[in-house]
Formats: sequence, C-alpha cells, structure tokens
Amino acid sequence: MERKKTRKWWKMDMKKILIPTISSVFLTVAYSNGVVVKANGKQQPLTASDQDVHSIRQISKSIELGFSPFTVLKTGLNHMYADTNVNSEKLQQTSTNTKKIVYLTFDDGPNHASIPILNKLDQYNAKATFFMLEPNMKQYPQAVKEMVNRGHAVGMHGVTHNAKMIYQSALTVLNEMQTGQKTLEEIAGVQSHLIRSPYGSFPHMKPLYKAVVEENELHLWDWTIDSEDWKYPRGQFVGKVINSAEALASTSKPMIILMHEKPTTLAKLDYILRYFQENGYEMRPLTEQMEPFTFHHE
Ligand SMILES: [Zn+2]
Repeated sequence: MERKKTRKWWKMDMKKILIPTISSVFLTVAYSNGVVVKANGKQQPLTASDQDVHSIRQISKSIELGFSPFTVLKTGLNHMYADTNVNSEKLQQTSTNTKKIVYLTFDDGPNHASIPILNKLDQYNAKATFFMLEPNMKQYPQAVKEMVNRGHAVGMHGVTHNAKMIYQSALTVLNEMQTGQKTLEEIAGVQSHLIRSPYGSFPHMKPLYKAVVEENELHLWDWTIDSEDWKYPRGQFVGKVINSAEALASTSKPMIILMHEKPTTLAKLDYILRYFQENGYEMRPLTEQMEPFTFHHE
C-alpha cells in the first residue's frame, strides 16, 4: 500500500512537469502555423485548454504510429489526421503543381484481408499493385477477380516463397513465375508480365536469372520504400512510410511502396492513404509499359 502510494506520487509529479512542457512546445508550433479547427461548421481557433488536450492526444497517437518528432513538429500533425478537422490549407499551398505519383504494392496475398483492403483503396480512389503467390490465388480466386475488376494491377510473386527453392536456378525462378502467370490467367482472364521476386531481387536474382526472366518478357519490380509492415504490426510502419516518402519526394526516384496483405496493415492503411491523398498524390497501379525499377538500377 505504502509503495503503491509512493509510485503514484512520482507519476503525478512527472505529469506535472511533462504535460505543460510538451503542450507549450506544441502550442507554439500550432499557433505559429495558424492551426484552426472547425467548430459548429465555422473555422475558429481552439481555446488554449482544448488545444492542449487535443495536442497531447495527437502526440501520443503519432508516437504510437511511429512518426518521428521531427515530422510531428514540421507538419503540425494536421495533415496526418483528417478526422480532427484541422485546417491544412496552409500545408496544401506548399505542394507544387507537378504530378505526384505513388505506387502502392502489396505482396504475399491474396488472403482474407484482400477484399477489405480493396474496399479501403476504393474509399480513397487509390489503385495498387498486388504481387501474389500462386497457391493463395487458387485459395482466394474471388479476391483475384476483384482486384482486376476494380482496376488494380496484378502480378506474380512465385509459388513457394522459399529462397532455397525458388532461387536454385534461373529455371526454378522462371517456372514459379510462369506457374503463377498461368493460374492468374485461368482465374481472372488476364495475362500479367509483372513479377516481384520473394525478398527482393538483391542478392538473390543473379545476372543470369535476370536475363532469363527478361527474355521471357517478365518485368521484375523492386521497391523504393520498404514499409516493414510485417515487422511493425502495431502500426509504426505508418511513420516509417511517411518519413521515407518525404525524404524520397525531393529525389527523382519513383515512389514504390512495399506492403503486405496483412490484417495489421489493413488496420492502419487509412493513415497511409490519407497522407498521400491530402498531399496531392495520385495512387496508381504499375503498368506493363513502365520501365521496371530494380535495385541494380540505383
Ligand atoms: Zn513476399
């Protein structure tokens, strides 16, 4: 009883110090950015106390999602969370008129998360690319058909997803991809030439392997942003993607994001889609006409 009381007292004391410090820093940033919120349909500044509570909630949420403190302060949080009704006009003005394109790609499906992922993409008018495993296509044929019907790109990711098996030779790579190609055609009636090799092309895809897939008109695609969504199931990958996208935006590299068809990715997908929508990006599928991006082109 005595110990519990002491601990509680310390906790309270830390709050007394931390909360005003964090809120005053945030308030300075928020006010200098002219942050206002909608209330009763009118744009009006928040009172200091509302702003205070609001900011602290948002900061803790953003840390949970893996945003860096730099990103949080730079953007003032307002264009990360549309549901807060914060006016992001000022931030939108800074975006240029040149077309911003992002290619969202999902690997390892389809599975039971596929249709909900498709529904989520529809909400944001986003198109994506799905690199699928052949046995999963057989197991979830309806999801494959839906992807095609809703205008997404579909491609092959092999059969085994086992590095020791698929990368035995150029021929084993080719066989796995062509097996997937055939199944995809049987299910959805489309022939795709887009492939992504499991774990990426480097170091597995030797020059000979690449030459063989190229000869067989298969286009090998890697990515420029690895979300590592499989590693961060609680959502920290969101911050990683957004931080990487902001860094990549100033380069000439294409923005190709690697994600996976996972329920945990679906759970936080709104944040990713909202970020790109609010920042003026078009979310497009990869096409057969595009020059594929692979790691060796870097
Ligand atoms: Zn994979």
